[in-house]
Amino acid sequence: MDNQTLRYSRQILFSPIGKSGQEKLKNSRIAIVGMGALGTALANHMVRAGVGYVRIMDRDFVEYSNLQRQMLFEEEDAKNSTPKAIAGKERLNRINSDVIVDAHVTDVTWNNAEELLADVDLILDGTDNFEIRYLINDVAVKHNIPWVYGGAVSARGMTVTVIPQKTPCYRCLFPKKPDPGTNETCDTAGVIGPIIQVVAAYQATEALKLLVGDEEHVSTALRSFELWNNDYSEINLKNARNEECPTCGQHQYDYLDPVDKSEKVISLCGRDTIQISPAEGTKIDLNGLAERLTPIGQVEKTPFLLRFLIEEYKLTIFPDGRVLIQGTDDKIIAKNLYSKYIGS
Ligand SMILES: [Zn+2]
Repeated sequence: MDNQTLRYSRQILFSPIGKSGQEKLKNSRIAIVGMGALGTALANHMVRAGVGYVRIMDRDFVEYSNLQRQMLFEEEDAKNSTPKAIAGKERLNRINSDVIVDAHVTDVTWNNAEELLADVDLILDGTDNFEIRYLINDVAVKHNIPWVYGGAVSARGMTVTVIPQKTPCYRCLFPKKPDPGTNETCDTAGVIGPIIQVVAAYQATEALKLLVGDEEHVSTALRSFELWNNDYSEINLKNARNEECPTCGQHQYDYLDPVDKSEKVISLCGRDTIQISPAEGTKIDLNGLAERLTPIGQVEKTPFLLRFLIEEYKLTIFPDGRVLIQGTDDKIIAKNLYSKYIGS
């Protein structure tokens, strides 16, 4: 037996997958949105299982507070502030060199979502962000791609599988975004590592079923777990599809075509950090910017980003024009720093 056959031998012995399933996995293309806790666990499963093409995307860099639960990262990544997509790709390549890992350091927005997600067989949600889930749902329904939602906070998690036109879509189930501040996030509640693995295990199993073509066994329930208090529950979704749903009923893709397409300023979960994303098509010349900023404050440049320290703030600037401003959760302060040092 050659090494590649050996590598997958236990999975091939599992009869619902078998030799033909393994071949299907090899010929599959998937996208994983977010390389945080769920995203890294999902990518680990998919790459080890031999899914042939795995696209990963994340807007952030590795920090020490990630290491407790984001399983692909190591101390060195936090020390170097390596972008998560890059650190993830390096680790995944070492795990399985046969898999093509296509890494993107970017925020997934209306502007690039179809480019990143419309040409795959399956999308896995590893984000911690409602906005992006509606966007994933729009692309998935529009292009008829199944996707698996997962979320985890505290010791609690939830997952559901969406097969467009067959099951309820995300918007059928959650017609409206929660108002800011009403949902517990990692700012206020924290999170333990094991709940991540439970949710990712369910998501990854659903992914394997879908990729080998065993739709019959795909879950038709919204499943939730609370590990600390030993709760598990399922809501059967067999008849939960809403024919009037704007997305899967009326094919209106509001999140792909937002009314406001201008610069976006958002506060990141639990980070004392503001992200500013410029309007469409802005690129920043990091070398030029480094030269301009060097006389003013402390500048560090890596192949992937520029770091600028000024007063009590730390600005991380990506080539796509995005800036993370650490040291404040005040959007006005962040915007002022942005226009003062990066340009308006
Ligand atoms: Zn729907």
